[in-house]
Amino acid sequence: MKKNVKDYIRTIVDFPHEGILFRDVTTLFADARGFRMAIDQLLTPYAGTRIDKVAGLEARGFILGGAVAHQLSTGFVPIRKKGKLPGQTISQAYTLEYGEAVVEVHDDAFQPGEKILLVDDLLATGGTAEAGIKLIERLGAEVVGCAFVIDLPELGGRKKLEAMGMDVYALCEFE
Ligand code: IMP
Repeated sequence: MKKNVKDYIRTIVDFPHEGILFRDVTTLFADARGFRMAIDQLLTPYAGTRIDKVAGLEARGFILGGAVAHQLSTGFVPIRKKGKLPGQTISQAYTLEYGEAVVEVHDDAFQPGEKILLVDDLLATGGTAEAGIKLIERLGAEVVGCAFVIDLPELGGRKKLEAMGMDVYALCEFE
């Protein structure tokens, strides 16, 4: 019997390349009880917090963020990989293990002073979330929380985001 969100997450060995343990949340999303548990738990720390919009990081952050936004009755904003958004965008580059990546958001997606909850499935080095936070802040909005299903503490993402003054919340950790 699965009791916790963590019990629904599958680990795939050697994906996307050898030596990597990929934490696969599709098994969590596919289970009605698991998915509801994850969304409900993602919301708990923010009871009483003003949230104007939820922002999700591509791609699993869209699934989580959409459900969280629906529950909060807020709008949802996708932060996407380069070249996917149709309108005027602003871009933010960040470093990957090998090379660089770019994320983008529509330049009218956030208004100055709006309070934003950032959502993604997994926090590793924190590079992706940091880039998302910068996009939100460049448009004058404020990130009031960063919520993840999984934190990989050894990769230092939480420390990086906390050093930026962020409030970081994760439902479970993997070594
Ligand atoms: P970071 O930028 O190093 O924190 O990596 C986090 C990003 O990579 C998130 O958008 C995750 O979806 C993705 N990611 C990295 N490792 C995994 C994994 O094991 N499972 C699922 N997503 C992962």
